[in-house]
Amino acid sequence: MQFDRIENVIDIPTIQTKVVTIVGAGGSAPLIENLTRSGVQHWKLVDPDIISGVNIPRQGHAPDDIGLTKVDAVAQKIRAINPAATVECYPIDFTTLSDEEIHEVFGETDLFIFATDSFACQARGNIVALLLNTPAIWIGLYAGGLGGEVVFWHPDLDCCYRCLCSSRYEAQQKANEQGESLDPPSQGATIFDIQLLDSIAGQICLGLLTRGTDNRFGKLIDQLGTRQFLQVGISPEFRVNGNDVIRKHLGIDENCQPYFAWNTIALSDPAKGNDYCSDCDKVRGHSFTQGIAGSMCLRSGVNKSKTESTT
Ligand SMILES: [Zn+2]
Repeated sequence: MQFDRIENVIDIPTIQTKVVTIVGAGGSAPLIENLTRSGVQHWKLVDPDIISGVNIPRQGHAPDDIGLTKVDAVAQKIRAINPAATVECYPIDFTTLSDEEIHEVFGETDLFIFATDSFACQARGNIVALLLNTPAIWIGLYAGGLGGEVVFWHPDLDCCYRCLCSSRYEAQQKANEQGESLDPPSQGATIFDIQLLDSIAGQICLGLLTRGTDNRFGKLIDQLGTRQFLQVGISPEFRVNGNDVIRKHLGIDENCQPYFAWNTIALSDPAKGNDYCSDCDKVRGHSFTQGIAGSMCLRSGVNKSKTESTT
């Protein structure tokens, strides 16, 4: 691959050494392809699903892929872009793996990407990231594709995914007790919604993989600092519990004519409190904070856990 035109912004020699594990290989297929174009060449793909006709309009798969596992189809796409890539395929449910199996199979991972519509899977991903002390990113599209979120963590940060999304965990627990699921349906979320979110997520991935290099992506993660919760308003009708949170956080006046849609906010945990996080306590031996998406969830019908996957 000839990286001449991007090597000034992406640390290619570094990113080529990194191992990326992605859980969910449906809607994230174009993200995987684009990270491969950006130099990632060691992949572990996890997804138990088989491609069917409904995946074609929303994901990066083609009719010829129908009947293949998503991981095998994506592996072919990676190899078509970079024949030197190494790809391991795991057509399995990530949540069924024990801690020991995680260590054995994914212990050498440099970055986890969790791109599923399953809360159980995203939550298990947090424990895994903490257990392995490995940077991770969670991507979630909200119901109807009106908005979405990208959450990231690396070991220098206090707040984990659960710290940031504590009330989502509480809402999920209540739903589970009533035999319900808060995992959102896929209806109404198009590939353009998914790819808008994935374009931001992909840049965060480049940042996490090349952090510390003196170029645009190498600086990105430290420029974000503790602003680990990125929320993207995709539709002009995106609201959280009736509130235009994007306008509010950006301090946009009601009369601001250019304000429309496709805006991103990057939020830190405003509380920096001491609420209990059982994941941090269990794995890191201490608990930090009380949750930004958590406080949003309390106010929100949307953000409570209506994340929709990129699968
Ligand atoms: Zn935590």
